[in-house]
Formats: sequence, C-alpha cells, structure tokens
Amino acid sequence: MKKLLFALLLFPSALLAQPTVIKAARLFDGTSDTIVRNAVIVVDGKRIVSVGGTIPADSRVIDLGDVTLLPGFIDSHVHLTAQAGDNWYLDYFQELMRQPAEQALLATIYARKTIEAGFTTVRNVGATDYVDVGLRNAINNGWVVGPRMLVSLYAIGATGGHGDGDPIPPARGYQQQGPMQGVCNGVGECRAAVRYQIKYGADVIKFMPSGGVLSLSDPVDAPELSQEEMNAIVEEAHHWGRKVAAHCHGDAAARMAVQAGVDSIEHGSFMKPETLAMMRDKGVYLVPTLLAGEWTGGRADKFPPPIAMKARAALAARSEMFRNAIKAGVKIAFGTDSAVSPHGMNPQEFALMTGLGMSPAAALRSATSVAATLLGVDDRVGTIATGKLADIVAVPGNPLDDIHQTEHVFFVMKEGTVVKNAK
Ligand SMILES: [Zn+2]
Repeated sequence: MKKLLFALLLFPSALLAQPTVIKAARLFDGTSDTIVRNAVIVVDGKRIVSVGGTIPADSRVIDLGDVTLLPGFIDSHVHLTAQAGDNWYLDYFQELMRQPAEQALLATIYARKTIEAGFTTVRNVGATDYVDVGLRNAINNGWVVGPRMLVSLYAIGATGGHGDGDPIPPARGYQQQGPMQGVCNGVGECRAAVRYQIKYGADVIKFMPSGGVLSLSDPVDAPELSQEEMNAIVEEAHHWGRKVAAHCHGDAAARMAVQAGVDSIEHGSFMKPETLAMMRDKGVYLVPTLLAGEWTGGRADKFPPPIAMKARAALAARSEMFRNAIKAGVKIAFGTDSAVSPHGMNPQEFALMTGLGMSPAAALRSATSVAATLLGVDDRVGTIATGKLADIVAVPGNPLDDIHQTEHVFFVMKEGTVVKNAK
C-alpha cells in the first residue's frame, strides 16, 4: 500500500493513464453513408487510440446504450460574442452601452451553450473589441468551458458596407472606423486591414464582398468591394497562411469573390446556378446558414424597415439556391450564423438542410469531416478515427432515421474530457 502511494506521488500521471472506453449501439464516423453497429471507442488522454477494437483490461467504461456516437459537431459560422434578442432596438442600446469586458463574460455563457449542444469546434467569423480572441484563449487555457475556436477578429469591408458600423451621425461623436477595425478602401488599406487582424490573432479572415441583411446602409446583394480589393484581401490572407470566408448574398459579388480565390462563400442567398458551378469547379465551399435566414426572414417585423425588406428577400431566395447547390455538387459546410439565432440552437440547421433535399448522412458529414476540411483542422477533428482528438457526442436513437435527434445531444466529450453527460 505504502509502495503504491509512493508511486502515485512520484508519478501522478499514472492515475490519468487509465483509458476510457465509450460503448454505444451505433456510431457515425463522420465520413461514411452508414452507421456502424456496436460501437467501441477507446480514448487515452486527449486522443482516440482505437475504434471497434478490444477493451483494455484497466479501462473505465462509459456504456451509453441505445444511442448513436458521432464526431463533435463543427459550426463554420458563428458569432459567440453576441446574441440577438426579440427586441432589435433594445439589443442595439444594450450592446452600445456594454463594456467589452461585460460582452466577454456574456460570451462565456454562449460558448458553454454551444458546446453543450454538441459543437466542439466553431469558426467565429466576425467580432469587435477582440472579444473573440479573449474567448478563444480563455477556452484554450481551460479558464472557461467552450468549443475550440478559430477566430477572424473584425470582418473586413468597405466604408458604408456590411463590415462598417451603422450610419450614426458623426455629430453624436462616433468615429469613422478604419483598417484596424476592418474598414478599408483601396488595395493598400485592404491589405493593411488583413494584416491588422492577423497581427492581433486572426486564425481566418472574414470579408464582405456583398451587402448584408442586418446593416442599415447597404443593399443586400450589391458588390461592395472592387475586384482589385477582393484580390488583394484574399492574396494577402493566403500569403499569411490564413483561409478566407466571404460573406456574400449577391450573385455578382459571389462571382467576384470566387474569382479572387476565396475558400468559402457564406450565406449565398441569391447565387445563380452558373456561380454555383464555378464554386464546384474551383472547390469553393458554401456555408449556407439556413437558420439565420429562417430566424431573420421569419421574424422580419421586429427589424427597422430597411432590414426587414432585405431579410424577407434573402429568405425567399435561399431555398432554390440551396437546392441548386446540392444539384451542382458544391461542397457544403455546416454553419448557422448563431448570434442571429440564440446560441445552442445550432443543431436545428440539420433539419433545415435535409428539409431542402440534403440526405441526413450528407448533413452530418457537412458538420463533421467536411467542415473540418474547410477549417483546415481535419488532421485533428471531424471524424472518429484512431489518432484523432477525442471529440465525441451522443444523440438518442438513430439520426439517419430522424435527423431531429441531433437536437438532443446528451453527451459531449472534448479532447478526452467529458463536458456533458446527461444520461
Ligand atoms: Zn455572420
């Protein structure tokens, strides 16, 4: 006994070395079209060390029973640093009056809701005041619980465009923003805007080729940057080894962005079949954010009239676009634009995708292996396979028979640590 105690004092890691085995009736590995029966995943430390193998004698077994195990979900388009409520005008006032530190504390609540819904990795595409950087680092340091984050800092766009602030009269004391806050005009400033975001910690660059729904100054579908400016933003980001996500509703802007070499088009509401064919040929991903369209277009009356009009138009156009994207064979990565809808509702995107003709297996792949490849993290996450980080979630029943089961994630493991087990 004394000897054992001594050994544990000297080598406390011996206590942690016990592997964990997760058992369940079914497993979806993130790549296939089908379910594997009688799943056994062996986790040692942060990683998966075997799938379907034998159970080591000294392991801790978590037997979840008649459920399906899946790779931790990935949301390619969130804003964990904010969240819209039912009253647009009240939201506006409250966000204006909040200190960045308060906003960061709120963001920790959104991060927890997101991971508890089964999302162990997110791409945060647009934030202010470096709250996204703070949250990412806090999660990485273990200070707060949340998904692994790739962050873009400020989204980049033109004066008056979707990346700029609202047209609050300068007489009220609001300063026009510049390249540090992502607002740029001309090739030089656009390159500077990219460099500023990378300087302060951007993993990915987000920019605004077209107008947006939730902004007061711009038409939703107009191109807001010149071809030269788009080329400069994408080239600069790629030089620094960062991928580029392009916010685009309009078709012409999307074509320019694809021409510039972006990695993904976000939203894409008004894109035509020819543009979708270009995306397929160049391997550009679509991140459709159907939930955002549903949430804004379906509640348009809460917004000021210019936004309401844009929200309805985008919602009316996006279903046909999405069906055309599937038909064309465009790579589709799961993304919700959560913040527009409440954090934690992310899984509702699955049923919206299958409702517009995507197969349940393809929808699940879009939130696992496909999104991992878009984000460039497929060497670590996105599938349940030997050597990958142990990001594993469980849902009741079989999500290939009923996709709504994804809305009932009750078990979440991130990097080998159980974050939630509500069984
Ligand atoms: Zn967004």
